[in-house]
Amino acid sequence: MSKPVVTRFAPSPTGFLHIGGGRTALFNWLYAKHTGGKMLLRIEDTDRERSTEAAIDAILDGLKWLGLDWDGETVFQFARAPRHREVVEELLAAGKAYRCYCTPAELDAMREKARAEGRAPRYDGTWRDRDPSEAPAGVKPAIRIKAPLEGETVIEDLVQGRVAIPNKDLDDLVLLRSDGNPTYMLSVVVDDHDMGVTHVIRGDDHLTNAARQMIIYQGMGWDVPVMSHIPLIHGADGAKLSKRHGALGVDAYRAMGYLPEAMRNYLVRLGWAHGDDEIMSLEQMVEWFDIVDVGRSASRFDFAKLENLNGHY
Ligand code: GLU
Repeated sequence: MSKPVVTRFAPSPTGFLHIGGGRTALFNWLYAKHTGGKMLLRIEDTDRERSTEAAIDAILDGLKWLGLDWDGETVFQFARAPRHREVVEELLAAGKAYRCYCTPAELDAMREKARAEGRAPRYDGTWRDRDPSEAPAGVKPAIRIKAPLEGETVIEDLVQGRVAIPNKDLDDLVLLRSDGNPTYMLSVVVDDHDMGVTHVIRGDDHLTNAARQMIIYQGMGWDVPVMSHIPLIHGADGAKLSKRHGALGVDAYRAMGYLPEAMRNYLVRLGWAHGDDEIMSLEQMVEWFDIVDVGRSASRFDFAKLENLNGHY
């Protein structure tokens, strides 16, 4: 028997719960309920300058308003930094990661060279095999993972299908910055692993990150969760949904008097449909929703439809 499904919603608390975040949370929640699994919540508060308590409260409130609960204690990512550093030590000890003593000026020069040659900037591997005894005095190292140089990294994505990224396009990414802070890429992998996440459902702006994250999973010999990258939501004009399209926060609609039932019905159909059914109870959504039925093309936010749905309740 396969493992019970564990999904997670992992917002960065740098603002309110926006429409896209609400839909990601809803899909994670529905998939967990549909399969009899669990949905966990992780607050990705590692950006200390932009993360706020007010945003955390707004996100939790938004989820509750939408009727989306989560299992277990909320995990706060920043507090787990010591565990993230521990994993880096393991990778170093296994020879899967190395200390990079490049100065910012050297890194800039590398980027400049790549630009001049018309290729994507990639770390050139200077410190992969160099003896650390040659390290310049006073430079604090960053820790990088050794990414494979040949072949490709393949993601079998439940929404996007098979996605193959040539390894030459993946960098020896930084795991730990020279100030000792773990990078986002590392933290996500360690947390998903430690939390027992089996299915990652998130926006497709994270698709190339997924390939990089796989290198960390492989380095640690961990199982990679099943990936589902859902297309972003666009405005009625076809451009990626942004502030200029008007109210983006779930709480703004709540304040305008929209009902959570209407919002849920609206959100669930952004990228997924069950025939022509527009009005569905939460029970019906749970019964019918499957992540593999989510479409690959971007959906458009249509205010009139939401307005119309609200009239049904
Ligand atoms: N914290 C990320 C975001 O809000 C999500 C990361 C993830 O789902 O892996 O975009």
